Amino acid sequence: MLKGKTALVTGSTSGIGLAIAKALAAQRASIVLNGFGDVDAAVAEVRALGGSASYHGADMGRPADIAAMFDDVNSRFGGVDILVNNAGIQHVCRIEDFPVERWDAIVAINLSSVFHATRLALPSMQAKNWGRIINVASVHGLVASAEKSAYVAAKHGVVGLTKATALENATSGITCNAICPGWVLTPLVQKQIAAKAAALGVSDAQAQKVLLRDKEPSMQFTTAEELGALAVFFCSAAANNVRGVAWNMDGGWVAQ
Ligand code: NAD
Repeated sequence: MLKGKTALVTGSTSGIGLAIAKALAAQRASIVLNGFGDVDAAVAEVRALGGSASYHGADMGRPADIAAMFDDVNSRFGGVDILVNNAGIQHVCRIEDFPVERWDAIVAINLSSVFHATRLALPSMQAKNWGRIINVASVHGLVASAEKSAYVAAKHGVVGLTKATALENATSGITCNAICPGWVLTPLVQKQIAAKAAALGVSDAQAQKVLLRDKEPSMQFTTAEELGALAVFFCSAAANNVRGVAWNMDGGWVAQ
């Protein structure tokens, strides 16, 4: 379905980003991976699907790095057809104690990077009159939780930016939509489970149950593969007129 398309997935060396990259690779898109950690393993996982994968190590908190990544990808592939803005970090702390540098980093990586990547991706999409921008927001783009002020503010910003991007391109073949997951068992959430287990003096398995019971009526984690399938749908012709939605996959979190 996506043969001939180039997909840049930010923060795709693990978790949700890697699963989305693999789902797009399975549809024959050429993938550009980004992120930190075990890069070789991520590239190998995508290539194992028979797809083409390359990597750029831009720090998504640094606008100059993002511009350099787009220069590189544009010169190698003639533009990005599918942009998945997924890189993200979390910090859990009350506002009065929230470290200022953590606030700045979360806003830069989780929100401002979406603006920078989008503004750099749009010109070549507009020239081709086709593009897909998929922003991985969160249920925290729709509702808040205590002790996640920077994350909640950034993700609400991503949902707003998604709508503005969709509207500015509404008469074109470029769509922009957000995915809003509830709990997904990735390294980002594993850290929160470990912290809860330590705080409550319980096992990881018990802490997982507490996390789910607090927020998700389904008592199940959404899987990264399910989110990958939603990203593929957004790239399909059936989604040509899906514009500016914030689609939650959250086990009923926001329905309450
Ligand atoms: P993860 O920690 O597994 O992956 C985060 C990815 O971002 C990694 O590849 C990491 O290397 C990369 N990254 C971090 N800082 C970066 C930077 N400065 N520049 C480039 N890459 C950077 O986490 P995840 O759970 O897969 O999260 C992916 C996205 O999904 C995030 O935007 C997160 O907010 C969102 N999300 C996650 C959940 C969840 O429950 N896990 C729920 C809702 C939304």
